[in-house]
Amino acid sequence: MTHKVLLLPGDGIGPEIAAQAARLLKACQEAGLDIDVEEGLVGGSAYDVHGEPLPAETLEKAKAASAILLGAVGGPKWDKIEDLSKRPEKGLLGLRKNLGLFGNLRPAMLYPQLASASSLKPELVAGLDIMIVRELTGGIYFGQPRGIEERNGERVGFNTYIYSESEIERIGRVAFEMAQKRGKKLCSVDKANVLEVTILWREVMERLAPEYPDVELSHMYVDNAAMQLVRAPKQFDVVVTGNMFGDILSDAAAMLTGSIGMLPSASLNESGQGMYEPCHGSAPDIAGQNVANPLAMMLSVAMMLRYSLNENAMAERIENAVGSVLDGGLRTADIASKGMQTIGTDAMGDAVLAAF
Ligand code: ATP
Ligand code: MG
Repeated sequence: MTHKVLLLPGDGIGPEIAAQAARLLKACQEAGLDIDVEEGLVGGSAYDVHGEPLPAETLEKAKAASAILLGAVGGPKWDKIEDLSKRPEKGLLGLRKNLGLFGNLRPAMLYPQLASASSLKPELVAGLDIMIVRELTGGIYFGQPRGIEERNGERVGFNTYIYSESEIERIGRVAFEMAQKRGKKLCSVDKANVLEVTILWREVMERLAPEYPDVELSHMYVDNAAMQLVRAPKQFDVVVTGNMFGDILSDAAAMLTGSIGMLPSASLNESGQGMYEPCHGSAPDIAGQNVANPLAMMLSVAMMLRYSLNENAMAERIENAVGSVLDGGLRTADIASKGMQTIGTDAMGDAVLAAF
């Protein structure tokens, strides 16, 4: 079956790193992968052409694709758009919502070759390999009612932290299955000492556990999880949590690796369709200079092959190619240790393709 892939370069460094992903997709095709790649506009670059960040045409293409590869959206050029619904970031949110992408996978792993480039003690982070599974379409970010209103003569702001059993169960299953494929350890993060919604969260995770007897389930309050993540991050394998806690913890975990330019991510829906993108943003400060690290984007291609297209062997080839490029000492500026020579975006793309 031909897999349909939609490439959305987006804004800032998005087009530069997406160009490297496109070359990699072509190499995969030449190596026998049956894919059909289309391109589309999203974010500020879509706004410039169509007056909206998620044009109907892009959404239609996204719905028809098995997987979407996205560069990054946003930048100062569009910060002054008054209608918030037209801001570039809304393009991303619209895709998440329309495709029902509830399961966000955020690996935080530190390539051993880069341990010395991290600002943290090597013994703390060398070999770090965590997968954070974040619920992405519910929780306090979307709960109703929400708003700002007058009460007793002053304004109050409020949001509703709500999860249904079925929402907890489906993200729980993603996390348990992930743990089965990895180190068989799952830590569920909640605030069950204070918040009822997370008492239910914990209950549902416990209920699922017997179905995955090979996975060791533990629970941690979010404040402790934040502390443990900084104190001894290597104790974690898979972490599952709700939308807001996941937002915060996954950013913290990414920073532990010290190499934001290396981290891919996935957002999946119930049918396995997914959107894949680097964890970093559009980096407007370095856009257009051919210095951005394309590896997070190229590793997003590998994640896509693994989680939406079921092409594990091809995914591994990409990951191995990245490993050998790092072994060879090639570095973009963001991952270089002091005194190391650096190469640009295109040259890093060349190197991965040569090693593929
Ligand atoms: P967003 O709100 O979209 O997450 P941000 O401002 O939080 O954006 P980034 O756009 O990720 O963050 O940029 C943060 C810093 O990391 C910037 O200095 C940027 O240049 C750098 N950076 C981000 N991605 C890369 C990359 N692929 N290669 C090199 N540097 C990068
Ligand atoms: Mg950010």
